[in-house]
Amino acid sequence: MSKPTQQSLRRRQSELAMANNQLEKLSNGIFSNGELPTFAEKINQSDQFPLRPTKIEILQINVGYMCNQVCEHCHVDAGPDRKEIMTKETMNQCLEVIRNTKAHTLDLTGGAPEMNPNFRWFVEEARKAGAKEIIVRSNLTILRANKKYYDLPEFFKEHNIHVISSMPHWTRGKTDKQRGEGVFDQSIKALQELNAVGYGMPDSQLKLDLVYNPSGAFLPGDQKSMEKDFKKALLEDFGIHFHNLLAITNLPISRFLDYLIASDNYEDYMYQLVDAFNPSAVHNVMCRNTISVSWDGYLYDCDFNQMLELKVNSKVQHISDYNEDLLNDRDIIISQHCYGCTAGAGSSCQGAVTN
Ligand code: SF4
Ligand code: SF4
Repeated sequence: MSKPTQQSLRRRQSELAMANNQLEKLSNGIFSNGELPTFAEKINQSDQFPLRPTKIEILQINVGYMCNQVCEHCHVDAGPDRKEIMTKETMNQCLEVIRNTKAHTLDLTGGAPEMNPNFRWFVEEARKAGAKEIIVRSNLTILRANKKYYDLPEFFKEHNIHVISSMPHWTRGKTDKQRGEGVFDQSIKALQELNAVGYGMPDSQLKLDLVYNPSGAFLPGDQKSMEKDFKKALLEDFGIHFHNLLAITNLPISRFLDYLIASDNYEDYMYQLVDAFNPSAVHNVMCRNTISVSWDGYLYDCDFNQMLELKVNSKVQHISDYNEDLLNDRDIIISQHCYGCTAGAGSSCQGAVTN
């Protein structure tokens, strides 16, 4: 069994558990004294302010913040102590939207989405409601955490779920340091089980992608060359296949912000992000084609804004009032954490955005 090495900010009663304290940190100091430009000033230089949606193609639904892991850099501040869970009533409101939306993709996230007691029912109903592509962001260890989850690979296969899984490194040491003791071994077993039902195999339609995020205060390297290294190591050492590696930049919020401050890396990291700003990455940031829905049905520009409690700037703020035309006509709420999406090749839940 994997053992969390730390606790959520909420459980530690850290000041950073409060979204307004995070936003204050991101607005003060180097950004208020003019040392670094704010994100709004930066994108204004390339006439991209205000940031506007293209059109909603992806509904990303966070079905709860509970997780069996407590990873060091989690932007959700998830963990076993988090009790926020989407109810069936809110799921029904989401299904009503799925029936009528022009969005083609449903992206289920958490916490560990599989821990929501209505997770399987929701997936089945979402498929019936017409969701074309369904993504589940699985932390892998949940597939091994309890007998009741052991058949999830079969369930995913039956519903043709696209599985996207975190795997910060191909070595035990680096993975366990970031995600908790024992996570690497359990993740390897879970990947082998997914491969055994066909996930991630060459030419398989059952999509299995892995997500890499850096283990410290640095930006990810080149996605394609990292993918080669991951594929070689996981195949040689464990016989594991997967399709794509998505390299994601850690955004300076929640537990990663806490880590940056505690390790005295906050300012250096913000300098790195601002130095690596890539105006062409702004076109493809995920908030331009995604709406994020929280466990209690509120709407956000992205999962990061959800954690910062920045609801969409629209008359429509809840899934029960969903109106796609109104939501497509809004200004996206930004702050300095957005630099994490536009550094280098850019970063989104689908990995780099400008390759
Ligand atoms: S990063 Fe993912 S697996 Fe880790 S604590 Fe957060 S939600 Fe759970
Ligand atoms: S953090 Fe969210 S709002 Fe900001 S650029 Fe990234 S996706 Fe968009």
